[in-house]
Amino acid sequence: MKIHEYQAKELFKQYGIKVPASILCEKKEDIEETIKNFMFPCVIKAQVHSGARGKAGGVKIAKNYQDAVKTANEILGMELTSKQAGTKKVNKILIEKAVDIDKELYLSLTFDRANEAIALIISNQGGMDIEETAKTSPDKICTQLIKDNFNPLQTVKKLGYNDEINSQIVSVINSLYRLSKEKDALLVEINPLVITKQNEVIALDAKINFDDNALFRHEDILALKDEKEENPFELQAQKEGLNYIKLNGTIGCMVNGAGLAMATMDVIRLSGKEAANFLDVGGGASSEKIEKAFKLLISDENLEAVFINIFGGILRCDFLAEGVKNAIQNLNIKVPVIVRMEGTNKEIGADILNHSGLKFTVVKDLNEAIEVIKKI
Ligand code: ADP
Ligand code: MG
Repeated sequence: MKIHEYQAKELFKQYGIKVPASILCEKKEDIEETIKNFMFPCVIKAQVHSGARGKAGGVKIAKNYQDAVKTANEILGMELTSKQAGTKKVNKILIEKAVDIDKELYLSLTFDRANEAIALIISNQGGMDIEETAKTSPDKICTQLIKDNFNPLQTVKKLGYNDEINSQIVSVINSLYRLSKEKDALLVEINPLVITKQNEVIALDAKINFDDNALFRHEDILALKDEKEENPFELQAQKEGLNYIKLNGTIGCMVNGAGLAMATMDVIRLSGKEAANFLDVGGGASSEKIEKAFKLLISDENLEAVFINIFGGILRCDFLAEGVKNAIQNLNIKVPVIVRMEGTNKEIGADILNHSGLKFTVVKDLNEAIEVIKKI
């Protein structure tokens, strides 16, 4: 789960990481009142779940009150398009004190799965071009795995600052590590972490991604979820208890089990098509759940066909067939539906579909499925 910069900065404050003074604004009619008592120059920042807001026109400096009101009105409500997140409407802005920047650093803690450890990544070439730096001068980016006798100072010293600055950076790293562990974050990133002309180390940006599977033990974090930022299909799926991820292809898939779902996506690729989604209905899905999953699946406008690939273990094939039949009866489905079932009660399941009076293509195995999908 992602959160906004302003929310991440509140967490930073709780962990003793310095951030600039700021105030949030969500309505155009509140802009003038909010800005009236603020200090200038200030920075107006779009609050959307996206990186590279600066390059997309979502972060702008304002010299005085008039300038700030004008800029805030431009950014609040704008459609912000970035490479990472596509186009998103800006529903909130953060008005933040402008900081006298001397240096911009990059700092993050993220998982290094291959090494089974959290990795500290730091660079003295931070800011909006960090991706470019990673490509052209990877030697400017220092990485250290956080293991038992972790000593961040060792890495921080490589950046070439004095002891006073180094100790401030180390303190930020230690706070970030504590936050990451205590709140089950998958990524915490500060880009830029700046050294000001007054020699203070301050977080100017804040990004945190939390582990969805650990949210059950962090009510405070879950409360920060902004539903407007979530993909509507994925949000609906979460509410129904389905594992669903929207993808860009045209073949909708409904599968039980994540491994089978991945194999099914490979099969779709082999037939020359792309999957429209990843949907795992889970092992013990009822026919009602199947019906809900199917409705969700076909609400995608890009679909050319639906491929249902189910292994009937705990989920029996006849339950599956009932669910799919009910869903299709109640909906006006225009695309072909291909079904491959294997396992418990597969003959009964096939019978239900074949005698439903509805148009299904029940295939006997994956090879036949590939052939059918190829012809779509
Ligand atoms: P994004 O990474 O989404 O582009 P940032 O918050 O990193 O957004 O802002 C982009 C750039 O704007 C920063 O690299 C920094 O140079 C500048 N900036 C952001 N906040 C401030 C601030 N409070 N004072 C001065 N400059 C800022
Ligand atoms: Mg940034």
